[in-house]
Amino acid sequence: MTAIEQLRTTFSRGVTRSMDWRYSQLEGIERFLTEQTDVLSAALKADLGKSSAEAWTTEIGFTLKDVQYTRKHLRKWLKPRKVSTPLVARPGRSKITLEPLGVVLIFGAWNYPLQLSLSPLIAALAAGNCALLKPSEVSPATSKVLADVLPGYLDSNAVEVLEGDADVATELLKQRFDHIFYTGGSTVGKIVMRAAAEHLTPVTLELGGKSPVLVSRYCDIKTTARRIAWGKWLNAGQTCIAPDYVLVDASVKEQLVAELLNAIQSFYGDEPQRSKDYGRIVNDRHFNRLLGLLDEHDVINHKDYDRRERFMAPMLVDDPPAHSALMQEEIFGPLLPICAVDNLDRAIAKIQHASKPLACYAFTRDKSEQQRIEQHISCGTLCFNDTLVFMLNPELPFGGVGNSGMGRYHGEYGVHTFSHQKPVMTRRFILDVALRYPPFNKQKLSWLKKLM
Ligand code: NAD
Repeated sequence: MTAIEQLRTTFSRGVTRSMDWRYSQLEGIERFLTEQTDVLSAALKADLGKSSAEAWTTEIGFTLKDVQYTRKHLRKWLKPRKVSTPLVARPGRSKITLEPLGVVLIFGAWNYPLQLSLSPLIAALAAGNCALLKPSEVSPATSKVLADVLPGYLDSNAVEVLEGDADVATELLKQRFDHIFYTGGSTVGKIVMRAAAEHLTPVTLELGGKSPVLVSRYCDIKTTARRIAWGKWLNAGQTCIAPDYVLVDASVKEQLVAELLNAIQSFYGDEPQRSKDYGRIVNDRHFNRLLGLLDEHDVINHKDYDRRERFMAPMLVDDPPAHSALMQEEIFGPLLPICAVDNLDRAIAKIQHASKPLACYAFTRDKSEQQRIEQHISCGTLCFNDTLVFMLNPELPFGGVGNSGMGRYHGEYGVHTFSHQKPVMTRRFILDVALRYPPFNKQKLSWLKKLM
C-alpha cells in the first residue's frame, strides 16, 4: 500500500475526526518540540546559522505557542455555529459545522523550515485531517529531523513525512489530495496550482513578494530604524515578510540611514560575521543570486561578504534605479534599498504600481497618513510603526493577496483552511405549507415574495 493510500484508508475509518485523536496529535507535536529542542536548534544552526535565541523565538518557541494556543481553543472553534432560519423554512434549524477535508499535502519552506512545516500541520491535524508533509530539501538538516524523529510522536497511519526535492514534489502533485498547502516562491506556486486544477483540489499558496516600508517625517526615527533593522536582518533577511525596500521622506533620509547604521552596529557589532546572532545565506545558489542583485549598486556602508561561509553582511543600497533587478525582484536577503520620496502620495503610487505585497510597513504617527495608507494600499498584512510582530498575534489571519498568495492560516483561520464549512439545515415534518408547491398563481407568488 502506498503512503497516500494508507492515509486515505485511515481517514475513511474516521479515527481522525474524534476530539481525542486531534488532541493526542497536538500533544505529540508539543512533546516533539519540548523534548527535541536541542536537536532542532542544532539542525537550524546547520541549515541557516540560526543562533539558539533566534531558533527559539522564530521557530521552536513560536511553534510551541501555536500548538498550545490551538489546544486551548480548539473545542470552542469546532463548536457548530448556529445561524437563523428564514420564515419559509420554519420550523427548522440551521448551523455551520466544520468537517475535515481528508488527506492534505503540505509543502514546507526552507527559511523557517520548522515553523513553516509544523504550523500548517498543526492546523491540518486540529481540523481532523490526515497529512503528508514534504519539508524543503533546501534545509536538509531540519528536513531530516522532521522525517526521522517527528513521526515517532504522531499517529503514523495518519501522518507521513516524506523528504525529497522537486522530483518528489512533481510525483506528489500527480496524486489527488483534498487540499494542498504550499509555502514558497510564485514560480513553483503556479506549478502547484496547475497540478491541483487537474483534480480540482483547493490550494493555499503562501508566497512572497517585495514588502515595502514607508517612513514618514512624522515618526520616531531611532525606534523606526531599530524596528526596521530587526525585521530586515533576522535570519539574514531570508524572511518572507522582511522589509524589502524603504521609501523614506527625503527630509529624514539622512537621519534614517544614520540610525540604521547605529542599529546594525548595536545588534551585530563592528564585524557582523563574528556575531553569534547573525545568520547565513542558505546555499550557494541564493548567495550568487544576491551577489547578482547587488551588482554595481552603491552600498552606503560597505560591501562585506564571505563566500566560504555564505556570510553576507547587512548592506544599505542608496537609491537603486526603479528598473534594476534589486527593485524588481524580491530580495530575500540582507540588502536593503533606501529610496527617497518627495511625499506620501508618490510613495503610495509606487506601491500601488507594483504587485500586491505580502506585508506593508508604514512608520508614521500621523492619523491622516495612516488612514490614507490603509485605504489605498492592498497587501497581505498592513503594520504601522513596527515590522513582523503581527505574526505573534494568532487572532490575525496570515496570508497574501494577489501575487503574494491566496488563503490564510494561524489560529482559528488555519483550522478553517483545512475544513469544509458544512451548512446543515434540519426541518421538521409539521407545517408543510403548500405555498411553495406548484401549481402557482398570482396570489401564491405575492405571498412567497413576502416570506422569502
Ligand atoms: P521554491 O518555491 O523554489 O521551492 C519550494 C518547494 O517547491 C520545495 O519544497 C521544492 O521541493 C518544491 N519545488 C521546487 N521546484 C519544483 C517543481 N518544479 N515542481 C514542484 N515542486 C517544486 O522556494 P523558494 O523560491 O526558494 O522560496 C522562497 C520564496 O518563498 C520567497 O518568495 C518567499 O517570500 C516565499 N516564502 C513565503 C512564505 C509565506 O509564508 N508566505 C514563507 C517563506 C517563504
